[in-house]
Amino acid sequence: MATTSCDVAIVGAGLGGCFLALLLGRRGRHVVVVEQAPSVPSGGADFLKPPGLRVLARHGMAHLIERHGLRRDVIRYYHDGEPIKECRFPDGGFLIRPYRELVELIYASCAMEGVEFRFDASIDDIVIEDGHVEELALSNGDRLRAGVVIGADGTKSAVREALGIEQRTMPYERLLMRVATVPLSASVAQLNRLYFSSEGWLAYLYPINQDQARVFVGLPPEDDKEIFQDGIPALLDELKKFVTDSSDAFDFLQPATWQRIKVSSLRLSAYHKGNAALLGSAAFACHPMTGMGMSYTLHDAELLADVICAAGGDHELLDRLLYARYEPRRHAHRQLIDYGDALAATFRDRDAYLAAFRPDLHVHGEAAAALLPG
Ligand SMILES: Cc1cc2nc3c(=O)[nH]c(=O)nc-3n(C[C@H](O)[C@H](O)[C@H](O)COP(=O)(O)OP(=O)(O)OC[C@H]3O[C@@H](n4cnc5c(N)ncnc54)[C@H](O)[C@@H]3O)c2cc1C
Repeated sequence: MATTSCDVAIVGAGLGGCFLALLLGRRGRHVVVVEQAPSVPSGGADFLKPPGLRVLARHGMAHLIERHGLRRDVIRYYHDGEPIKECRFPDGGFLIRPYRELVELIYASCAMEGVEFRFDASIDDIVIEDGHVEELALSNGDRLRAGVVIGADGTKSAVREALGIEQRTMPYERLLMRVATVPLSASVAQLNRLYFSSEGWLAYLYPINQDQARVFVGLPPEDDKEIFQDGIPALLDELKKFVTDSSDAFDFLQPATWQRIKVSSLRLSAYHKGNAALLGSAAFACHPMTGMGMSYTLHDAELLADVICAAGGDHELLDRLLYARYEPRRHAHRQLIDYGDALAATFRDRDAYLAAFRPDLHVHGEAAAALLPG
């Protein structure tokens, strides 16, 4: 049992925690990352949109991240089998790279900056005195004393709970999500296609590398029980009703292993308290249809790194800077969460979905959205 002192303790070695650790390590801060799992997480995210790519480029990471990733610049949308829209991404488009690979690359870069990782170690207790986190007690008995504590510990964040920050979690109850990894077929290799149906189903098919594809299926909860729990041959019958240009993938879908994914939105009343702040899915969660969660998280990590370095160990200054520069991120996040809610609520209705669709937010994220009306 040992007590370690450090400049910054980060709870959670996902994208947000690892990227922040990298930025702080590069600026000479002593950073300890505590992760409950034996390795970085696998998650469900595959798309890194232009805003996130730009953040990585600013830190010299773009080349490394893109080396084995796939670039795409069009998504074609269908409703009840008919093409209704193409969303185009300029300047090289977006990157497809499975979450675990992305996080592993950033994690590996942390090693060169002296960041310390404690895997298989969760948080048993968070000692707070006078509104400041004084100490983290780890499950292995070790203790961590840090000038700044970051909760990058996902949607069920223990740091958020300890800080007592008010939260609103809303599960997307009308749409259950399932995902499978299957062999790549020609139509999926050709184009990303996202199908919606007026019966409340969706199917998204895209490649994740030269050999494999990811397939997301969303469906009403009452259909999920019938299709996935009582036997999946009926899955193909349902998909054939609205998935028109990807039939060469059908043979792969029936034998696939379909994992269920819980998706909720998360809104908070604050992102920090004293010397502790929340990052990534601990701070906000939106519907994955926006494809922007990682981009915003990378930008937030960049901002947090600047604030922590500018405060230079002064607790009062840190608190003030977090208020002034980090808390306003809640407005951008709220806009994204509202947008995800609108997409999830309208996709059954073709016209309502097209009216809700925001190319500015979808492609460029907050920067463009701030410049354009409505
Ligand atoms: C189905 C799905 C698809 C998505 N697709 C996309 C996409 O295509 N593009 C996109 O930009 N975004 C997408 N997102 C959002 C994206 O996944 C998140 O924005 C991103 O993963 C946030 O990273 P994070 O570091 O906060 O969280 P996480 O990756 O969740 O990391 C949290 C880490 O904290 C650890 N942890 C938790 N509790 C503790 C504890 N008490 N002690 C120690 N460690 C702890 C966990 O084990 C985990 O490793 C998707 C989300 C979902 C749910």
